Amino acid sequence: MGPEPARMADVVVIGCGAAGLSAAIEAADRGARVIVIESEPSPAGSTRLSAGYAAFCETDLAPGSREELYLDLLEAHHGDHDEALVRLYVDHAAAAYRRLLELGVRFAGTFQFAHMHQAWGHEIAGSGVHGGAELGRLLEIAARERGISIMTRSRARRLLRDEQGRVDTVMVDTPAGTLRFAATRAVVLASGGFTRNLALIRNHGRPGTERILAITGAGSRGDGLIMALALGADTAYLTAGIAPTGPADPATGKGAMLVYSGAVIMNRDGQRFCDESGLYNDISWAALEQPDGLIFQIYDEAIRQAHLGTMLGRVLSGYAEHKADTLEQLLGLLQQAAGLDAEQAQLEIAAYNRAVRRGEDPGFGRRHLVGTAGTPPAIASGPFYGIVTVPGTTHFNGGLKVDVALRVIDVFGEPVAGLYAAGEVTGGFHGAGYLSASHVGMALIFGQLAGQNAAASA
Ligand SMILES: Cc1cc2nc3c(=O)[nH]c(=O)nc-3n(C[C@H](O)[C@H](O)[C@H](O)COP(=O)(O)OP(=O)(O)OC[C@H]3O[C@@H](n4cnc5c(N)ncnc54)[C@H](O)[C@@H]3O)c2cc1C
Repeated sequence: MGPEPARMADVVVIGCGAAGLSAAIEAADRGARVIVIESEPSPAGSTRLSAGYAAFCETDLAPGSREELYLDLLEAHHGDHDEALVRLYVDHAAAAYRRLLELGVRFAGTFQFAHMHQAWGHEIAGSGVHGGAELGRLLEIAARERGISIMTRSRARRLLRDEQGRVDTVMVDTPAGTLRFAATRAVVLASGGFTRNLALIRNHGRPGTERILAITGAGSRGDGLIMALALGADTAYLTAGIAPTGPADPATGKGAMLVYSGAVIMNRDGQRFCDESGLYNDISWAALEQPDGLIFQIYDEAIRQAHLGTMLGRVLSGYAEHKADTLEQLLGLLQQAAGLDAEQAQLEIAAYNRAVRRGEDPGFGRRHLVGTAGTPPAIASGPFYGIVTVPGTTHFNGGLKVDVALRVIDVFGEPVAGLYAAGEVTGGFHGAGYLSASHVGMALIFGQLAGQNAAASA
């Protein structure tokens, strides 16, 4: 077994995002000594980049029932997911929300995304820019108040087992070299997804998915997935989970999504190809089939102003906008920049404007801005704007197979003793699709449960 451990704890948590911090806090409150290790110089995973929307039911802000949330999840997952994990989510959503209030997290209201029949997405209050940054900050304070040590620049590279087969050691690359961290009770993998690991995407994704532009945390390399695969762990919905989400600007690497405020989308041929108010994953999937995968988002000043007032507008910023006084000039700029067929685009927008003014969209059935909220406006009042985007991603859905105790399950259907996982490193809950706000929700709910179970394990 190598040298004496450099550090020892009851529970070692790998990753300092919503899942890892939630697990650490719950384990500490059950009497466990906890260490969190984080590969990056500061905790800056996807959680902190995110809008922080979390889908909960049976709360003061979203009183709808768990059965109603379940049905929305089922629809978003195209009827195909791990039933037990989805039940686990809806059954524990309200308790997780109450726990967050105890920990000092505050919510400003709710938002209704596409595929939601009710506004389940809880918006974090007090966040100037990213709801996720505020969520991460508050969870980190709660963790430090409990004496949990958070070790940055510490990248977990291998998991080792004792003679009985229980995972009891994490080998960690640190500035002082590779160190051995011992866990007397359990290890919790909360290292996020693998959106930035091209080799894994090429191996497991459909052809073309390697073109998806990741705007996720730098640590989304799939380390947790790889370490657990080495122990024989099984995966769930890995291939289905490698999916684009919202469009992103390849020039700046920034997400850009004005569709839910009314932007119209077209391809390089100047033709619309989807319902812009649909699920953003569906928009990006459709875009992968378009010439060069390009998505032109076109909007006017009124739409721009409306967007800047939303959480999405605050979180997804910094992209390169083209601007012109007239629509014709704007389309000319987009033609020069990325080859848009400006003539066809002008005709398309004229037809679109006529359709939305009549309150109908025969081509793609766009009737609301998002979900069942809002009415798409005509693109009519200059100045006019355009962004050239490609299918991007904020997360993948597939990952390690876990059971309802959040134990990692191996390829023979047995739990990997001593190993738990939560958050984007796991798969199965999302199945074949994604309900907005359910990734942060899953990281929080399952993170809490994984921490409770890890602390209780022998
Ligand atoms: C721009 C953006 C907006 C989003 N908005 C939303 C939203 O509003 N609602 C929603 O539900 N989802 C949203 N998502 C997705 C969501 O944020 C993530 O799926 C979720 O936060 C993942 O949480 P996590 O704790 O599992 O992973 P992360 O938050 O990514 O945390 C994992 C941590 O583990 C660290 N790590 C990785 N490897 C190692 C290693 N080997 N050793 C030690 N540490 C390691 C990483 O550096 C990272 O800090 C968004 C994502 C982005 C990028």
